[in-house]
Amino acid sequence: MSEIHYRLEQKRHLSGSFPGPKSAALDARRKAVVAGGVASSVPVYVADADGGIITDVDGNSFIDLGSGIAVTTVGATDQNVVDAVREQVGHFTHTCFMVTPYESYVAVAEQLNALTPGTHEKRTVLFNSGAEAVENAVKVARLATGRDAIVAFDHAYHGRTNLTMALTAKAMPYKKNFGPFAPEIYRVPMSYPYREESQIKGQDAALRAISMIEKQIGASSVAAILIEPIQGEGGFIVPADGFLPTLAAWAKENGVVFIADEVQSGFCRTGEWFAVEHEGVVPDIIAMAKGIGGGLPLSAITGRADLMDAVHPGGLGGTYGGNPLACAASLAAIKTMKDHDLNGRAKDIEKLVSKRLVALLEEMGEAGIIGEIRGRGAMLAIELVKAGTAHTTKEVNAEAAKAIAADCLQAGVIILTCGTYGNVIRLLPPLVIGDELLNDGLDVLVQAVRRAAE
Ligand SMILES: *Cc1c(COP(=O)(O)O)cnc(C)c1O
Repeated sequence: MSEIHYRLEQKRHLSGSFPGPKSAALDARRKAVVAGGVASSVPVYVADADGGIITDVDGNSFIDLGSGIAVTTVGATDQNVVDAVREQVGHFTHTCFMVTPYESYVAVAEQLNALTPGTHEKRTVLFNSGAEAVENAVKVARLATGRDAIVAFDHAYHGRTNLTMALTAKAMPYKKNFGPFAPEIYRVPMSYPYREESQIKGQDAALRAISMIEKQIGASSVAAILIEPIQGEGGFIVPADGFLPTLAAWAKENGVVFIADEVQSGFCRTGEWFAVEHEGVVPDIIAMAKGIGGGLPLSAITGRADLMDAVHPGGLGGTYGGNPLACAASLAAIKTMKDHDLNGRAKDIEKLVSKRLVALLEEMGEAGIIGEIRGRGAMLAIELVKAGTAHTTKEVNAEAAKAIAADCLQAGVIILTCGTYGNVIRLLPPLVIGDELLNDGLDVLVQAVRRAAE
């Protein structure tokens, strides 16, 4: 990573107990007007954010190890992004690409067609959110194949709209009482190496899923297999080697569209532009969002030209899809990723963080509460279990995950949890965070894990 200039001092600092008075006052206002269904995990209100720091309205500075859920990969005020958006906002904020098109939309499509895996002819469409990208990938796959069935996996998370709720695996908080759900969604087992009963190989785990698909749906009825190459909300689950390539090969043989949901894992997060690259998999369609826009709302699908162009004119789109501010931000964010080699930076972060977490795991040993440390690049996680069960019953320890996140927050470090069982601590630092700040955040995390184990 070449030198990064920060606007805010990159230092953790707490000016007293928090939430402070200003945050508390804002929270009281919020409770009177904002629906309770939107929950925030951190009780402070933001004043500013830059690099690896978020400051609140009471003068506290927090270390950000969540990036607003993997969005601010280039930081929350990357200079390229800020300059590009300022320039664009003075010209036009919106015209609607479906009415009067503009260059930046085309330029983003050029970038995505070049950056996504595979040298085949590709086409791109832009949207606003990850869920919208996934929905549209499914639309394209169904239309292009003339088939209905969509295969999704255990522990999957694909969004909160009706179709993506159906595709998501977890009832609480995402699905419960929000149905009925869209039909023709089938769920098959994931490869979850830590929780497999026997050490099943990736290829065999894929064959287990394929056998279910063939028996319960029939290959010729399947429009698409939809999978996160590293599952996000489900617990940063990295499937065993060979799982993704075996599924992709089967899809190809059977005329099934292989859709990679890289909404969380894309854009340098894992040390590659896309997580499928670690396994040499070339998806037919790839869904992107989160890190794509430097913090502005943008999402996309990029796919094989023959599939994408099967759709009739007017079949895809949306009022705001590929908004000019979001496109300007995305082009600038991609430039920053390239200029600062953020793929290389993600790999360095992986080395730094895993060294410290593995040391903690060894210190705790089998009697400890760390079941597994996993992930790739700057998408790393700790799965927590009840003390002493790491190699035996692997009893989930959601209380520890909660306590650790709360403990970190008290010390000024923002850390997110995830997992089907709520027992996973996930690290998603902005890739522009400096080593010193990252180490300070990890010191706090390590202490919190030790305390939770006591
Ligand atoms: C966040 C996420 C989504 C949904 O994205 P939104 O922008 O919140 O709609 C879909 N898939 C994955 C893998 C995600 O992590």
